Amino acid sequence: MAADDGAGNDAAEAVRALVGQLRTHLEMRARSGLQGVGMAKTARREAPAEARAAASVAASAIDLLDEGADAAPEKARTGKSGLQVLRDEIGDCQRCKLAPSRQNLVYGVGNPDADLVFVGEAPGADEDAQGEPFVGKAGQLLTKMIEAMGYSRADVYICNVLKCRPPGNRNPEPDEVASCEPFLKRQLAAIRPRMIVALGKFAAQCLLRDDTPITRLRGGFRSYEGIPLMPTLHPAYLLRDPSKKKLAWEDLKAVNAALARVGIHPPRPPAG
Ligand code: URA
Repeated sequence: MAADDGAGNDAAEAVRALVGQLRTHLEMRARSGLQGVGMAKTARREAPAEARAAASVAASAIDLLDEGADAAPEKARTGKSGLQVLRDEIGDCQRCKLAPSRQNLVYGVGNPDADLVFVGEAPGADEDAQGEPFVGKAGQLLTKMIEAMGYSRADVYICNVLKCRPPGNRNPEPDEVASCEPFLKRQLAAIRPRMIVALGKFAAQCLLRDDTPITRLRGGFRSYEGIPLMPTLHPAYLLRDPSKKKLAWEDLKAVNAALARVGIHPPRPPAG
């Protein structure tokens, strides 16, 4: 698990990030039957590009969550059985080349009906040994971040894009993602969370199909399969550069604030 969050800083990347957010916004509007394309045309006529982009980012964060609220009515509470059926189907998975070197398949842990799901990259050595995501040093930091939001690990759901450890913690390869991501999609379909937090460059870029650096992706709401998604910095990166913890905390506070808008509050008061 490399969790390489190296910074990129040019204007083209900024524009790509904004365009990605605008696309997400329009897709969500289109999905919810709103006049997304018409709105974009109006914006094109009326505003200069920079103002239009800034306005669309603000609008997408707010509208995405409102539309997400419409798109996710009362849960069917089928999370547990749905997750178990899928786990049974995955079985002793041999679908990709990671199978022979793994000790344990790391499926996911937490509340099968969670409102909030954290998605990382892939198991590391500790996770492979224990069969549970985010139990090593980065996982301990993630647990603290979750607790600072007012949740426990048992309140949320935690999983990864890949269910098996890449040897030597190398980056996941495209064929491995292609084998495994459909299971993540189905996990999320079973849980039906109201919000996803993508942890780090790999998870965010992979889920969003967007290679904008995480330093630019983070902090802005996007959409994955119609579910609002907040990309943030990976806890392993935060261990390497603790000065960035405040950025991740801003993202998590934005998640809490967004969930509060649709009436979802953590069971305990968040840290200040
Ligand atoms: N890093 C990840 O991305 N996932 C884990 O489960 C552990 C570390």
